[in-house]
Amino acid sequence: MSMPMMRPKRKNPILRTRVMNLPPSARGRVALGLTAGAAEGRLMLQVCERCASLQYPPREACAGCLSPELRWREQSGEGDLLAVTILRHSNDLYFRERLPWRIGMVKLDAGPTLIVHLHGEVAEAPCRVRVGARLDRSGQAVLIGFPEQETPHMADDPVLRDMTSDPKFRKVLITDGKSPVGQAVARAMALGAVYRSLAEVAVAVTGIAGPTGGSTEKPVGTVWFAWCIQGVCTSEMRQFEGDRAAIRCATVGHALNGLLDRLPE
Ligand SMILES: [Zn+2]
Repeated sequence: MSMPMMRPKRKNPILRTRVMNLPPSARGRVALGLTAGAAEGRLMLQVCERCASLQYPPREACAGCLSPELRWREQSGEGDLLAVTILRHSNDLYFRERLPWRIGMVKLDAGPTLIVHLHGEVAEAPCRVRVGARLDRSGQAVLIGFPEQETPHMADDPVLRDMTSDPKFRKVLITDGKSPVGQAVARAMALGAVYRSLAEVAVAVTGIAGPTGGSTEKPVGTVWFAWCIQGVCTSEMRQFEGDRAAIRCATVGHALNGLLDRLPE
């Protein structure tokens, strides 16, 4: 039976439609070290092996002694917010859609001075801030100034939502449940659930329940499982027979049995 089509919700004619676009992604080759750190949620800066001076922005040779031996090292990011400015114009489309935009200049306790995006709860300068590196929607590192103390719902700040890829209330599409990527996704989902919820146990599944979506090397019924118990994550792949309902039923059964097997006495 066909479902009657529903009239789409009326758009508010006064509100302007936001243009879909991405933050600027151009980075130099050395700056990718910052991005590699941000992918793990860490602020990494280069330290000279010869004179131990801390470098920013990322560069090929030490600004003090010209040594090319620079190593990426994790930084605490603590420092003083020296000045704040509010952008009311931008030539970049991404920021033009999000004006006004607050940015600040931070002097790290470790030395360098950085320009950072500011979390909405950061007070006016001068004050203490903690600089963190995050991946933006282009997949590149961005530096964000956070308030010194954590506050509840800090992750829901609009600046942080615009500049990072937090999955909260967003849909995540997993296109391949059998590949090593699919396995990694299942493990990451289980770990993420534990990390986000303070739960002790998490179970994640991803796969192809059918009736479509299968292929010869990934037939319908391929399901990846991950169990995360007290910080230890294990995963496996199973193949189930039957239609969509049967595969989903078998998946739930196997996920729960696997959990029972793994729970400590
Ligand atoms: Zn040096």
